[in-house]
Amino acid sequence: MKKWVCTVCGYIHVGDEPPDTCPVCGADKSMFEEVKEAAIDSMAPEPTIPAPSTDATTSAVNGKWECTVCGTLDDGDNPPAECPVCGADQSLFNRIGETTAGASQPGKPKIPEAPRHGGSATDPRSVDLGPEPASFKARLHHRVIAQILKHHVHPVSVHIPNGVIPFSVLFVMLAAAFDCRALEIAAQCNMIFVVLTMPIVLYSGYVEWQKRYKGFPGNRFIAKIVAAAVVTVSAAAVIVWWWIDPAVVQHKPGSFILVNLIMLFAAAVAGLIGGKLVFRD
Ligand SMILES: [Zn+2]
Ligand SMILES: [Zn+2]
Repeated sequence: MKKWVCTVCGYIHVGDEPPDTCPVCGADKSMFEEVKEAAIDSMAPEPTIPAPSTDATTSAVNGKWECTVCGTLDDGDNPPAECPVCGADQSLFNRIGETTAGASQPGKPKIPEAPRHGGSATDPRSVDLGPEPASFKARLHHRVIAQILKHHVHPVSVHIPNGVIPFSVLFVMLAAAFDCRALEIAAQCNMIFVVLTMPIVLYSGYVEWQKRYKGFPGNRFIAKIVAAAVVTVSAAAVIVWWWIDPAVVQHKPGSFILVNLIMLFAAAVAGLIGGKLVFRD
């Protein structure tokens, strides 16, 4: 098996031929280049997924380490002390790739990159949810989760709060500064959309965490959950406060703006951590 890299987006395909079109960016076959690797195909052992190991002495010369939580790869002789993407510790890294052991089996296919999260070897982010359950309700739930993961509902839907909240907060501050009722109404309309989207954002985020990252309780995930909770509570507080006092910006500008800024800060924190998990840098 050969490995092909899309020169447009970096997607890696494992197979004898490059795909007709890149499943990520749509680039055609001619845009793929073969990835040359030091190990020769015929020198590789049976395809197996290496057992979890933190023992750095086990012939890891040509090995690579993979974070079992998020799939990040590391080339070092030892796994990193902490995953730079998700914060998982050393013990959560598995060794993958070539070993020099069992090299006397010519003609055997080389190990493709170990499937991550039990998914396909060619898509590092695919998630295997297992077979569909029999009961109607469980099957429906299973399909909803599969669609949420397949269409990246969380990173798509978070653009609504993360795009709208900064403007709502800006309108609130301008409404206070210029004593402008129209700007306050604009901010209210924006916040209604934020609150309506939050259930989708929170549920899809929970599904991503549980399925794609196996519910790993690392610091980044906890920080993201706390930030999401702060956004939700402060957004609800802003709406309720407006409902109780529609002219709160005139009556209590200081405390109202403070709650808005807390919400904005928490949304920014959640967005930064999310970006790090998605883009891995
Ligand atoms: Zn591509
Ligand atoms: Zn990781």
